[in-house]
Amino acid sequence: MDKGHIAKLIENIVGQENVKIDEPMRNHTSFKVGGCADILVMPDSMENLARAYKICRDEGIPVFIMGNGSNLIVRDKGIRGVVIKIFNNLNKYTVKDDIIEAEAGILLSKVSKVALEYGLTGLEFAEGIPGTLGGAVVMNAGAYISEMVNVVEETEYLDNKGEIKVVRGEEHQFGYRTSFIQKQGGIVLKSILKLKKGNKDEVKSLMDDFSKRRKDKQPIELPSAGSVFKRPEGYFAGKLIEDCGLRGYRIGGAEVSQKHCGFIVNIGGATADDIVALINHIKTSVHSKFGLELQTEVKVVGEE
Ligand SMILES: Cc1cc2nc3c(=O)[nH]c(=O)nc-3n(C[C@H](O)[C@H](O)[C@H](O)COP(=O)(O)OP(=O)(O)OC[C@H]3O[C@@H](n4cnc5c(N)ncnc54)[C@H](O)[C@@H]3O)c2cc1C
Repeated sequence: MDKGHIAKLIENIVGQENVKIDEPMRNHTSFKVGGCADILVMPDSMENLARAYKICRDEGIPVFIMGNGSNLIVRDKGIRGVVIKIFNNLNKYTVKDDIIEAEAGILLSKVSKVALEYGLTGLEFAEGIPGTLGGAVVMNAGAYISEMVNVVEETEYLDNKGEIKVVRGEEHQFGYRTSFIQKQGGIVLKSILKLKKGNKDEVKSLMDDFSKRRKDKQPIELPSAGSVFKRPEGYFAGKLIEDCGLRGYRIGGAEVSQKHCGFIVNIGGATADDIVALINHIKTSVHSKFGLELQTEVKVVGEE
């Protein structure tokens, strides 16, 4: 791939300031690890996102879509092709009655604050999830009492051919940390969330409670990607890991969090290889002690 040529084509659409060549992905992931993306694009409008995506398709360039990088481990060799980051440039929203319509790049925590501001209930669970709305829809993000499936009414997305499509209600095929778009591919552009009229003080107090619980129980002061593993049915991943004696276990700069064994944290200078090696060590240990196969919730991407 001629990076300069492709970057120029995309710059002509989204502007030079929104295209970076050989961009270190550690600057774009909550784990603070990851080699360079050949080209990173931060589209400035939905139309230009679709046009940039079309160029990549026409040129046969692989595309990886990301939001805030809070559920990603980008490998140390980085990502070949184009990474499209749907974040701050695409964060507009409107509120009408109990409906919030928002672009995919808005932070979920921001949407949760908007709901509070308008006295709407249903998004309190999302106050501390550090992803974008698009990432949350794809992952069916959830915490404590609820998940995205309970609030997302409609989603507009670009399919793999670059055509705009809409899914409604059950067509999202939400499951535990999964969705139709995660399975089929596609780029979330915007979603319509249906909330309920609530009591502002009650909404605030629930959000404060969740926030306190997170601060008390989760290592939010260190770089991580949240819970590394999905919850195996009938168990808690963190408890299984703790029972394997792995609290604080380290490989390089990656450590099983002392505070919450379901998290791996970057205690400084971790590489993606360290984190992946630790994940594999945890999986092997849990399997040999309990006969259970842990599945990762975090997405490992990039060149092996
Ligand atoms: C401290 C901490 C706490 C967390 N707590 C929670 C929690 O309580 N509950 C929870 O569910 N998660 C939690 N997470 C994980 C993470 O925040 C969520 O999974 C979030 O939804 C990911 O959003 P993102 O924008 O960061 O997506 P990314 O990490 O950038 O991407 C995640 C996946 O979504 C895809 N994707 C992202 N945006 C789009 C888009 N617009 N269109 C198509 N595909 C897209 C990517 O390709 C990738 O497969 C936590 C993470 C951290 C660091």
